Amino acid sequence: ATPTSIMVGTGRAAEIGVLFRKGDALQILQESSVIALDKTGTLTAGRPALTDLILADEMQEEDVLRMVAAVERNSEHPIAEAIVAAAEKRGISLPKIGAFTSITGFGVKATVEEREVLIGADRLMIREGVDLGAFAGHSSVLATKGKTPLFAAINGELAAVIAVADPIKPTTPQAIKALHGLGLKVAMITGDNQVTAEAIAEELGIDHVVAEVLPEGKVATLNSLRVGGGKLAFVGDGINDAPALAAADVGVAIGTGTDVAIEAADVVLMSGDLLGVVNAIDISQRTMRNIR
Ligand code: ADP
Ligand code: MG
Repeated sequence: ATPTSIMVGTGRAAEIGVLFRKGDALQILQESSVIALDKTGTLTAGRPALTDLILADEMQEEDVLRMVAAVERNSEHPIAEAIVAAAEKRGISLPKIGAFTSITGFGVKATVEEREVLIGADRLMIREGVDLGAFAGHSSVLATKGKTPLFAAINGELAAVIAVADPIKPTTPQAIKALHGLGLKVAMITGDNQVTAEAIAEELGIDHVVAEVLPEGKVATLNSLRVGGGKLAFVGDGINDAPALAAADVGVAIGTGTDVAIEAADVVLMSGDLLGVVNAIDISQRTMRNIR
């Protein structure tokens, strides 16, 4: 392609809200054979809601939600917002807490009314020596439905399984089909539960899933998706995605995402949906083949 046709392609993309921040991204995008997508906030809305609360014997719903939400009020994770919103909706007032700790990729803990409260993934419970017992079964059933199961423990005893679900963006199914139509292999990278991620990937027809990835493992995971000589594109929206956006051959940020992600990207999708990336690849393929 000539410099002029690249300018024309970049301009055409800008008109439909796809901003190429680096000139060579148009060319590299056209050579991409694999596209990896972050799940939360990229494939999904990034605004989960609480869907299920399964209590251990002797536990009261209001009491569990009160303590768990009091802890989550101190976390910025979208899961935390879902739990706090559920408590607020029920008009539950939240007590003050002490000694809050956030364990990235695992969950959170704090002291509430002299009791130690833990909320997070199964791996947090295993790490803290909490026995999952019969709750492991409940958790897998929820995950099979594409919901994210969380465990809450009070003083080392399992108190509840809480599920949250994050709706898939309305345009995502169409975007995945179109990416396949353009000849790309589609992968998903997420910190979420393996079974949950597989359920969502299956619903969307995604070819490959890597789940339960810790934030520091995202770049290594991304690099493991490289096949043959084809280029690798990555789409993400969060602070945690910035290193992967920089490491990919083409990093594509969702324009409604965090500034850190946008800064690290080569291409920015002004609209919050994945049809923008389909348009970007389509334009890059047409430009490089000089099709008008
Ligand atoms: P992702 O961005 O893909 O959701 P994270 O690394 O942020 O990945 O989180 C991975 C998992 O860690 C979550 O699915 C959840 O199980 C657990 N987790 C993280 N933060 C919290 C929190 N504030 N409350 C409960 N669980 C959490
Ligand atoms: Mg995300």
